[in-house]
Amino acid sequence: MPDQDSKVAPILDHHLTYERRVDPETGERYRLVYLEGATLLRDPLLNKGTAFTAEERASFGVRGLLPAHICSIEEQLVRVGEAYATKDTNLGRNIYLASLQDRNETLFYRFVSEHLQEMTPIIYTPVVAEACRHWSHIFRRPRGIYLTPGDRGRMVEVLQHSPVDAGVIVVTDNERILGIGDQGAGGMGIPIGKLALYTLGAGIHPARCLPVSLDVGTDNEDLLRDPVYLGWREPRLRGDPYWEFVDEFVKAVCKVFPGVLLQWEDFGNNTSFRNLETYRDVLPSFNDDIQGTAAVAVSGLMGAMRMLERRLEDQTIVMLGAGSAGVGIARQIAAAMQEQGASAAAARSRIYTLDSKGLVIRGREGLNEHKLEFAVEPERIASWDKADRVPFLDVVRQAKPTVLFGVSGQPGVFTEEIVRAMAKHTDRPMIFPLSNPTANCEARPEDLVRWTEGRAIVATGSPFDDVFYDGRRYRIGQGNNVFVFPGVGLGTVVSQARRVTDGMFLAAAQALAGVVDDELLNIGSVYPRIDQMRQASRAVARAVAERAVADGVAEPLAEDLDALLDRSMWVADYVPYRRA
Ligand code: NAD
Repeated sequence: MPDQDSKVAPILDHHLTYERRVDPETGERYRLVYLEGATLLRDPLLNKGTAFTAEERASFGVRGLLPAHICSIEEQLVRVGEAYATKDTNLGRNIYLASLQDRNETLFYRFVSEHLQEMTPIIYTPVVAEACRHWSHIFRRPRGIYLTPGDRGRMVEVLQHSPVDAGVIVVTDNERILGIGDQGAGGMGIPIGKLALYTLGAGIHPARCLPVSLDVGTDNEDLLRDPVYLGWREPRLRGDPYWEFVDEFVKAVCKVFPGVLLQWEDFGNNTSFRNLETYRDVLPSFNDDIQGTAAVAVSGLMGAMRMLERRLEDQTIVMLGAGSAGVGIARQIAAAMQEQGASAAAARSRIYTLDSKGLVIRGREGLNEHKLEFAVEPERIASWDKADRVPFLDVVRQAKPTVLFGVSGQPGVFTEEIVRAMAKHTDRPMIFPLSNPTANCEARPEDLVRWTEGRAIVATGSPFDDVFYDGRRYRIGQGNNVFVFPGVGLGTVVSQARRVTDGMFLAAAQALAGVVDDELLNIGSVYPRIDQMRQASRAVARAVAERAVADGVAEPLAEDLDALLDRSMWVADYVPYRRA
């Protein structure tokens, strides 16, 4: 009898290397495994290494291929921990963990899940940025699917080569990797890292996760000149050929993996909004840079409202950066204010966005569509002291924000002068410098606390140590997207939602804010700790699934949602194998 997971996660025949089962007599969970010998040891999804039992070694033809001692997973973890400790650079640690993942996924997930706080920054931001930069030089084993312009006309066939039956795909075209721009084929580090977080956070089984790189070339001259560069060595595809390429990809995904959740990741500004809008009504899909970031940011704001017992619709927000993150956050703040009864116009009037040219004002030359959405009407600032352009400091002085978001990718732009100008008008300035990696952060938390005499509520995108000021400890919450996207993915998958609605992201933000306990709020953190990722993902998934049903994009659930989540969240542990 197939076990419960297989109901949620049907494995297609052509991907079948095992089936999860439950023994009807003993109730034991086991896998029916189709591989054997050295092939079994080389399959990272199935390999247990030295933990294969005597019976398994005999029955799967691996006797003699392993040393004599049969290890428990705990013994393996000791060995892995020792090897990890010998790595003396973050990139070295990232490479070690990647090779562990490629050797034995169960052990990798178990190891990382026991050290989430320490290792999340190694497998994902900020260290993954370094791994992407050096990708062609540190490449060991392939993972996921690469599609290039040479694959036009046969993307269905290429996707059918997938080693997994995808339930979740994370796809990038590598153009705007984290804060470091076009990384060509090296961008693949991002979907791989992100999917690892789907598994760590929400327990999505690694056999359901497929990273995809749309390697449409690169405009990064350093890569094009690098003799060992591994990607498609051409300038980036642009214009109609690019859109046709993406269109063929989406159609192929729908055909090969019907019902799959597609997450768009690290696309350029000129493509991310259009891809999201074009395909969000074609398949369940979302863009984490726009919507996931927004949900995390709004959740932080909701946490701050809880901490200060204030109302969101009374806040004035200045958003430094009007790209994917900035516009996404602005949209969701406006939506959250509207859910609380504000009109669309009133909500928009509380938000000021800025880009590298200063305040985004309607009528300014060269504004693209997504920036226009939150462009300030000139009449609204008619009384302001201003020249043609309104720089950041002038906006802060005249708009008198209570909340400042940094999503500009520019280090140090929240200067002492700016922060002091803000703190003059508000007793508890809420300051969220979210730019990653760490070196790009708009301000150092300790400076923000000092410049505001300890009044600021600070949250960052990258991890920072606690700050001590005037005898008090301040916990700097990390507004990490990892609190949202795995749960959104799980909630979408378990509810079998046909689409991902804006409401599902608002529900995610609210659910995440509810996970922050009073102890954290009391020391100033508006986010949970990274090691609470599972708890957060579960709460988010629950809220997202319920909202999917309420929004009419999923059927009412036939069974108890908690029970469904319990058995859908994979825990990294070995189960016995039986021969197929
Ligand atoms: P983006 O390239 O789409 O947007 C950057 C925006 O910043 C653009 O509008 C640009 O005009 C503006 N900008 C550049 N220099 C500026 C300056 N000096 N003053 C004001 N604006 C300036 O990038 P994005 O995807 O929106 O990401 C922006 C930053 O946010 C990145 O550093 C990224 O790491 C970070 N981010 C953090 C999180 C998180 O912490 N959860 C999530 C997503 C993105």
